[in-house]
Amino acid sequence: MSEDKPHGMPQFGASGRKIVYDENGKPCRTCNTLLDFRSITNNATSKAAAGAAVVTATASVLATNVPSDCPPDVEELGRSTWTLLHSIAATYPEKPTDAQKDNLKTFMKSFSNLYPCFYCADDFREYMNKEKIQVTNRDEFGKWLCNAHNAVNVKIGKPVFDCQLWKERWKDGWKDGRCD
Ligand SMILES: Cc1cc2nc3c(=O)[nH]c(=O)nc-3n(C[C@H](O)[C@H](O)[C@H](O)COP(=O)(O)OP(=O)(O)OC[C@H]3O[C@@H](n4cnc5c(N)ncnc54)[C@H](O)[C@@H]3O)c2cc1C
Repeated sequence: MSEDKPHGMPQFGASGRKIVYDENGKPCRTCNTLLDFRSITNNATSKAAAGAAVVTATASVLATNVPSDCPPDVEELGRSTWTLLHSIAATYPEKPTDAQKDNLKTFMKSFSNLYPCFYCADDFREYMNKEKIQVTNRDEFGKWLCNAHNAVNVKIGKPVFDCQLWKERWKDGWKDGRCD
């Protein structure tokens, strides 16, 4: 995989983000947003050059109207993955055995090598090298994961989540009862 653009291919997508290409010089679907992926594969950048109104209209069409059974973009992949990871935290034992701790460490290490957005995985491995994974119990791992997620949020300009609330979000449901 590469972030370098192949000859003759656009460097930026319709959102203004840099397009990530795979090892065959094709736009990487799981590394780009759907909007950017489609703006390259549908050649919308040339349409966009025709005018701002066309850009806006093209962008909104490209970002929507996707059947639910298509391969994920970087955002859908991310949302689904965070759901899995935080749900693992929510069901991790309060008093794990040594074997359970080892399983979690092994899983997270493998995950950080296999995550399908390669530059996301590179940065996540770097995070794991800096911030040692906490597997002592559910709350420790839940908070470690919440902080890891926040590091990604900061990197891509999303709001930081209050990690005191991770269990309400991912295990018990909000105190106002809307998840009951
Ligand atoms: C390991 C990993 C690395 C990633 N790296 C990148 C990257 O480098 N570049 C990129 O563009 N995208 C990356 N992503 C995807 C990105 O994090 C988002 O998943 C994606 O942008 C969709 O965001 P979203 O707004 O739907 O909410 P998401 O960030 O997917 O979060 C889903 C839900 O989790 C809750 N939440 C938010 N923050 C926290 C937190 N700190 N703790 C607990 N719950 C929380 C919120 O309720 C939110 O709605 C990565 C994903 C993963 C799993």
